[in-house]
Amino acid sequence: MSSLQNFIKTFALWELLLGLRLTLKNLFVKKFTIRYPEERTPQSPRFRGLHALRRYPNGEERCIACKMCEAVCPALAITIDSEERDDGTRRTTRYDIDLFKCIYCGFCEEACPVDAIVETRIFEYHMEEQGQNIMTKDKLLAIGEKYDAMIAADKAADAEYR
Ligand code: SF4
Ligand code: SF4
Repeated sequence: MSSLQNFIKTFALWELLLGLRLTLKNLFVKKFTIRYPEERTPQSPRFRGLHALRRYPNGEERCIACKMCEAVCPALAITIDSEERDDGTRRTTRYDIDLFKCIYCGFCEEACPVDAIVETRIFEYHMEEQGQNIMTKDKLLAIGEKYDAMIAADKAADAEYR
């Protein structure tokens, strides 16, 4: 663009006119205002929200303390301690996720060989006190138990996409 054209556009407030044209164009189109929380937008079964640890139908923890999720987590948000049980299997004694560090990438869920750690579609949660950002094993298992049916349905729907 020549400097003369630039000069004319500067005085004609060209960018401002372009902006106003866009505003006018959208002034009378149908609005998409959602009155949250009474109204909700559709949510993908692949939405990555609050984490949960799952159990098998017989109540046994799925997690085998392989630490794949801890190793793959790019935010170093997962901390796992483990020990061998009397029956020779390995289980976690500590499984913490720091939600302030987590970037909700879903790598932990992808890496887990037994579908133990999942990210649910839950996004309405908050913290009021210091330390509530740490999701302990008990808290994660409780979420897994409470929302097991929803998690299983989302997993099945997700499998159809793949
Ligand atoms: S979602 Fe990503 S950042 Fe969050 S705990 Fe899992 S791997 Fe780490
Ligand atoms: S949640 Fe999955 S990946 Fe993480 S330690 Fe347990 S079994 Fe391994």
